[in-house]
Amino acid sequence: MNSYLPEGAYLLASLLFIVGLKRLSSPRTARSGNILAAIGMALALVGTFFLKDMAHFGWIIVAIVIGTIPGWLLAKRVKMTDMPQMVSLFNGMGGACALFISLGEWLDNGGENLGELLPMHFGIVFGAVSFSGSLIAFGKLQGLVSEKPLRWPMQKAINIILVATLLVLAYISVTHCHCETHWIWLIAGVALIIGILQVLPIGGADMPVVISVLNSCTGMAAAVTGFAMHNMAMIIAGTLVGAAGSFLTLLMCKAMNRSLAAVIFGSFGGGGSAAAVAGTSDKIQRETTAAEAAIMMGYARKVIIIPGYGLAVAQAQHLVHELEQLLEKRGVEVKYAIHPVAGRMPGHMNVLLAEADVPYPKLFDMDEINPEFEQADIALIIGANDVVNPAARNDAASPIYGMPILNADKAKNIIVIKRGRGAGFAGIENELFYNQNTRMLFNDAKKALQELIAEARAL
Ligand code: NAP
Repeated sequence: MNSYLPEGAYLLASLLFIVGLKRLSSPRTARSGNILAAIGMALALVGTFFLKDMAHFGWIIVAIVIGTIPGWLLAKRVKMTDMPQMVSLFNGMGGACALFISLGEWLDNGGENLGELLPMHFGIVFGAVSFSGSLIAFGKLQGLVSEKPLRWPMQKAINIILVATLLVLAYISVTHCHCETHWIWLIAGVALIIGILQVLPIGGADMPVVISVLNSCTGMAAAVTGFAMHNMAMIIAGTLVGAAGSFLTLLMCKAMNRSLAAVIFGSFGGGGSAAAVAGTSDKIQRETTAAEAAIMMGYARKVIIIPGYGLAVAQAQHLVHELEQLLEKRGVEVKYAIHPVAGRMPGHMNVLLAEADVPYPKLFDMDEINPEFEQADIALIIGANDVVNPAARNDAASPIYGMPILNADKAKNIIVIKRGRGAGFAGIENELFYNQNTRMLFNDAKKALQELIAEARAL
């Protein structure tokens, strides 16, 4: 009976992971998808208690309690803008699990053949890289480590030497000395250093892509550890995480029109002052007031709102929903245009607006909404910059050339809320802000929206 119980629990858990992941693809079903995957994880944990030769139940329960309490509290308390670093921290914990499980398995059983030794070594290396890399990514996003790309002499040479050392150590450990523990500790140590040195030179703003890469690394670590331990749930769950992380990385790179190599070896990112665009130096940005902007929107037929990173920073999502409702009461059609990489993590704007109870049918993906800008009286840009920069279409020399953008410039009028002349993530000027029909409402998004709401109410 006992031998079927864990396998049955793992099979059910794996099915729940797959269904859960599928449901995560739409905000309408995401909540239930998350719950299903959590039930799957609980089932997998319970199944583990029934494994053959399982002992030390007390320690397992202590570990579950140590993992659950801080995990629960952190997830409950985290601010929306701090989500990327929390994902990074949790991902690092996944890497640490794979590292310690593979290490424990090696120290316990040593591995009898290549089929067991290889996965253990992969688990240790991928787990260690993911663990230390994710902690550095967390440190950068949390401001504990400088978010600037750190460089040092002979960076590439050092990386090559470290990878070569790792390969030599792994070869020695697998072929000759799998009963001597110091080789495995050395391998884990070198892999931890590689994780740190790979992430330190990448700018803070590129961390979401790095986290996504490390996420797929954690998945692979878990999957190979599952092979070493003959554990089906780990193999399936690890493969799902690895594949999801890889797809997410590719999608993010595609939406930013940057290769993975450009992210890893850094071509832009990390903010900074705006680099001037040819032809903008003699042009002016036309300012407007909240009163004027409210009149323009209050008497418009169609307004498309474009949220960006600044909206998240200002935590103004509830106010934008309030403004949308006020405009709709006046008979204005209001839609939201969501760029796939608006903000700093995939789905950032969707989650932000969902938190403010903006009805999901009002949110439109880039491809759906782009043809509608020409009929829009106003495109209201709130704290977005790169995702509406026409240089992506017009300027072959621009670092964002080729990145798909929201066609805000096609709207009859454009109102931009931002604090000043600061650049966006790519650190470049935006020619849209100098257009004849663009009006700049310089203010923090929260304050600007409060003023707009007050003015709209008075109309
Ligand atoms: P963005 O290009 O970073 O621009 C944000 C703008 O918001 C800035 O120009 C800033 O101007 C303004 N801002 C900041 N704080 C504000 C506040 N409190 N109130 C009002 N405005 C504020 O943002 P985006 O258009 O959303 O584009 C996202 C960028 O991030 C893209 O380049 C994308 O490739 C990159 N990225 C995205 C992801 C992802 O997964 N979503 C991952 C990695 C990188 P001021 O300083 O003048 O206010």
